[in-house]
Amino acid sequence: MNLNKYLEGKEVFEFNTVKTSEIPFTGKFLKYCEENICGQYNLSWTCPPAVSYIKEQEKIKCGFTDAMVFSCKYDVKDFNDIEQMDIARNKTMDILRETVKEIKRNNIDCLAYGCSSCKICGVCSYPHQPCRFPDDAIVPLEACGINVFELTKKANINYYNGEKTVTFFCVIVFNGGNN
Ligand code: SF4
Repeated sequence: MNLNKYLEGKEVFEFNTVKTSEIPFTGKFLKYCEENICGQYNLSWTCPPAVSYIKEQEKIKCGFTDAMVFSCKYDVKDFNDIEQMDIARNKTMDILRETVKEIKRNNIDCLAYGCSSCKICGVCSYPHQPCRFPDDAIVPLEACGINVFELTKKANINYYNGEKTVTFFCVIVFNGGNN
């Protein structure tokens, strides 16, 4: 599957591949998760403590060779407009989910990491019931300890894209190159 060609047809701003061995991992985000800055700590199957960044790191490094990093950029009138920010974030997650489905349709194994905790269900079944859609639930990049700023440098894509814009990032890890 030519992932570049596929993403060219989507509302993706920039993309590039790196080797999974180049992905910069860090444990420092865990303390932000524990401070519950985003309000999802201990509330989702896709966030700590249900997700261990050490285990995600192992899964990525031991199971996959290549990583596609992509960004979606949106114009923002008001950064305090939570609804608009959520719409933009959800659009990015939709592109990520569609891309993963296409990759899997091509019989390529992959794992995806996104720009927010999973919001598929109104209320997550965590912790009392199993995840309702484990094949579709996606872990945020920060929850698996990926340093997004450093990753954009490795992937040669912009982290900051100018005033009045917001940029969201996603990563898909897979095997077998991109052609
Ligand atoms: S699919 Fe539903 S149950 Fe599973 S992590 Fe997402 S919100 Fe939670």
